[in-house]
Amino acid sequence: MGIEIDFLAVGEASKSGDAIAIRFGNLQGRRDEQTIITIDGGTRETGEKLVEHVKTHFHTSKVDFSFLTHPDGDHASGMSAILENLEVGKVLMHRPWAHSAAIHDLFDDGRTTPSSISERSRESLAAAHEIETLALAKGLEIIEPFAGIATTSGSIRVLGPTIEYYREVLSQFDHMPVLANAQSFSLSSIAGGVITAAARAINWIAERWDQDLLVEPEEDATSAENNSSAILLITTANGKQYLLTGDAGVPALTRALDYAAGIGVNLTNLNFFQVPHHGSKRNLGPAVLNRLFGGIQATGSNPTKTAFISCAKEGAPKHPNKRVTNALLRRGVKSFSTAGKGVLQHDEAPPRAGWSAASPVPFHGQVEDDD
Ligand SMILES: [Zn+2]
Repeated sequence: MGIEIDFLAVGEASKSGDAIAIRFGNLQGRRDEQTIITIDGGTRETGEKLVEHVKTHFHTSKVDFSFLTHPDGDHASGMSAILENLEVGKVLMHRPWAHSAAIHDLFDDGRTTPSSISERSRESLAAAHEIETLALAKGLEIIEPFAGIATTSGSIRVLGPTIEYYREVLSQFDHMPVLANAQSFSLSSIAGGVITAAARAINWIAERWDQDLLVEPEEDATSAENNSSAILLITTANGKQYLLTGDAGVPALTRALDYAAGIGVNLTNLNFFQVPHHGSKRNLGPAVLNRLFGGIQATGSNPTKTAFISCAKEGAPKHPNKRVTNALLRRGVKSFSTAGKGVLQHDEAPPRAGWSAASPVPFHGQVEDDD
């Protein structure tokens, strides 16, 4: 029983995004012995490449499940190409506009109504709304990927967000009205803190193997939209586990791990990890990494696990951040970044002509001193 996980290249210059295709099951067998999923679609252009990828490498135009992790444009824009050009079984996406009645009490400016909030969501998250419109027009079933959603066999399991956490972060999305309990701050203090756009020279500092410089990000280090990302666990028939994280941050990942522990799913066989948010240091800290992979290993120990990072060709130094790839490597996880080319993780899969072994990101003895 095998698996192929393809991360397509997204982003010509410095803008990252996600476009992922996964096939698992008996990869030497018939189509109905396999499950095929897509996760996000990147830009419009990569969405079309993802369609071609499924046809060329998975030899089918039928996708069982098409996931949208969260509504940001770098994930959602390309997904409409999948619905337009492939035969999709079920669409798994959150419908932000469907939760307005549940969250509207949190705003108290006297003008918001559930329908005005829904209207704002549809307008501001236009790429995601387009996917819903397309799916409904095709009569496809749409399922919101909340913790607890799983295939009958348990091969695909959503670990987060719970519906409660989703609604909490949804109320903090950029386009939402100001929350009733939000702290107000004066304009003058914001003006005083304006960061100039002038380019800064990068200072480098040394990082030793036994000295983790990755620090726990602040609770609000990544956006509410990112923390709304669906977090998926795929378990193949041979028991290997693959964790896909979208752009989730530490609060979202911590809750997903708590949820997994609560339902008795332990991640001891985790051998593949999607580094969230294109390798940003705002989305991972030592605590989550220790829970996933254990603590720092001895110098020179062989990494046995794999991480993939969807990042633009010119995404450095933000995507991926060297503190993140170092932190993974010292916990036994080697990472591979897309950076302008597709990468493939495979197990018991047929050979692919023209594909060669990729080089993992090395340990960096110098990291950016950008704090
Ligand atoms: Zn993103």
